[in-house]
Amino acid sequence: MLINANFTSPNFTDRKKPIEYIIVHYTEMPFNLALNRLIDKEAEVSSHYLIKEDGEIFQLVADDKIAWHAGKSFWKGQSALNQNSIGIELDNLGNNKFSREQINSCLTLSKVLVQKYSVPSINFIGHSDVAPDRKIDPGIFFDWQFFANNDLGIWHDVSRLEYKELYYFGDKGDMIRKLQHNLAQLGYKIEESSEFDMQTNYVIRAFQSKFYPSLLLKRGVNFFNDFESIYSWDSVSEEMLAKLLIKY
Ligand SMILES: [Zn+2]
Repeated sequence: MLINANFTSPNFTDRKKPIEYIIVHYTEMPFNLALNRLIDKEAEVSSHYLIKEDGEIFQLVADDKIAWHAGKSFWKGQSALNQNSIGIELDNLGNNKFSREQINSCLTLSKVLVQKYSVPSINFIGHSDVAPDRKIDPGIFFDWQFFANNDLGIWHDVSRLEYKELYYFGDKGDMIRKLQHNLAQLGYKIEESSEFDMQTNYVIRAFQSKFYPSLLLKRGVNFFNDFESIYSWDSVSEEMLAKLLIKY
């Protein structure tokens, strides 16, 4: 695996915790802008790796340092995930597909990192998982099923089921509390408010964009441009969540 080490970021701190997670992002801007930003002291952001659309891998921060990629974050009871994660940025505007070369580089790199640091394979996750109220990357075009087929992350293996809408924004009751409880079990930060509120909406967005992107495409949800889009919960998502929880 070739790694371009010609660019380094000053934006890092010393790592004190072992590496437990790999967090995937997209840059949401053209490659040169993203690279310049990730190595700009003023920007105060960075990632360990940046993968160009053509598949070239850049290392900007050493693995044994904390890079500043996840920000305020939470997953499975832990917060401030920068401390124990490796951040991988993918050169992508957010509203377009990833190239095959780029995905292959991401897979090769992640496999090496998982092996090297004994990262549990289910801890290959996205920025939207750990910050669902702020972030939507790596978005609906990141193929989580492909990575799960290669032992990175998890997938539900639900293909076709009868689709039925279950809950809508504003719904209240025990069934919403149970849904919130189950989403929290998966790892998301969500309070059991018993109401399909905005925090629930954001977590459902994170869940469906990752595990059921075809639904978002079919429903015509303006995923990329409208951060305040309202989502709903359905029988297929419910089945996917149940299948995923069994894998924990
Ligand atoms: Zn991100």
